Amino acid sequence: MPNRPVAPVAIAPAAIKNIAPAPHEADDAHWMGLALAQAREAAAAGEVPVGAVVVKDGTLLATGRNSPVATHDPSAHAEVNALRAAAAVLGNYRLEGCTLYVTLEPCAMCSGAMLHARLARVVYGAADPRTGAAGSVVDLFAQPLLNHHTRVTAGVAAESCGALLQDFFRERRQAARETAQPLRDDALRTPEACFDAWREALPPVATVADLPSLAGWRMAYVDTRPGSAEAPVLLALHGWGEWGLLFRHLWPLLPAWRVLVPDLIGFGRSDKPKRGAIHAPAWHAQVLREWLQRLGVRQLAIVHHPDSGALVQALRQPGAPVVTAAWPVEFSHADADIQRAWQAPFPDRGHEAARRALGARKVSTDDLDPDAAARLAARIAPAGSDPMGYSGA
Ligand SMILES: [Zn+2]
Repeated sequence: MPNRPVAPVAIAPAAIKNIAPAPHEADDAHWMGLALAQAREAAAAGEVPVGAVVVKDGTLLATGRNSPVATHDPSAHAEVNALRAAAAVLGNYRLEGCTLYVTLEPCAMCSGAMLHARLARVVYGAADPRTGAAGSVVDLFAQPLLNHHTRVTAGVAAESCGALLQDFFRERRQAARETAQPLRDDALRTPEACFDAWREALPPVATVADLPSLAGWRMAYVDTRPGSAEAPVLLALHGWGEWGLLFRHLWPLLPAWRVLVPDLIGFGRSDKPKRGAIHAPAWHAQVLREWLQRLGVRQLAIVHHPDSGALVQALRQPGAPVVTAAWPVEFSHADADIQRAWQAPFPDRGHEAARRALGARKVSTDDLDPDAAARLAARIAPAGSDPMGYSGA
């Protein structure tokens, strides 16, 4: 989720009546167009779409776009990013004579930064009734003890600036509705925020809950080629101390393969039944069979942690899907970061029923680092073109 709680609204006259705005100037629409381009880039990067540019004497000095999610930085608002870049260009933390254009009314932090920079003028697009500090919630620019420098112009291209935010949040709500699934009373679901630190290493996760053996528990998985009927399939099974992130360095090395990486029920981003009795390998194997059938997988190869050996045995029983090969994983040592990742799905003891039932070690020190993943991929890749083994050859 974005770190920035903004409400996508067009400028509301009631919210700005206490501002005495500076008049629009001839080039304002042009420069706001560049700020909007920055906002669109932010949206494309999954950030709340706010963009800014800094202009001096009719020349573009610097640009900035909102980036708190990607940079893990609550201060990485478009305005702060643009101010930093402009100050670097000028070699001076004072931005006298400069104008900052931003698509959304600045918050208190950004307004404060502008006042410290002695910015000559700020021009914004849409008002922000939740955090706007140029008139909507407070007006820092109207405080004579704070501000001797910065004039404010509001509402330039407000409609386009607001529409960009509205579209962004509408799409996000839609996506949230599509992935939202009710949680059974007898299960826990790890909050998404627990996985934030590793989100960049993970492709979008898919989920399934309506398989007979799942009965509403939600299983999360990575599918690197959704819907592909031709690619050979590799199923990657983590152990009882890890989750799908274990294979993050492997799947990019196997572009010809459809790599399927489930977080087994009770692990990772999948639901966690509170009772341990369900966690027999045979039940997990049944879930996997139904899921693979749903995905249209008739044969596959497997890489697996030794923990899930019994699960692989169960999958190798006659019938669908046909298991053509199974490779155990050769591990490297998990660094402290990754050891934290293995603990992330278990914010408290209630989440750990599966780990306890299956006899997991306290903290897994197993990982598949880039070298280990490359060695494994080198063993797997040729099998993908083996006409005897795979229909996709
Ligand atoms: Zn801000």
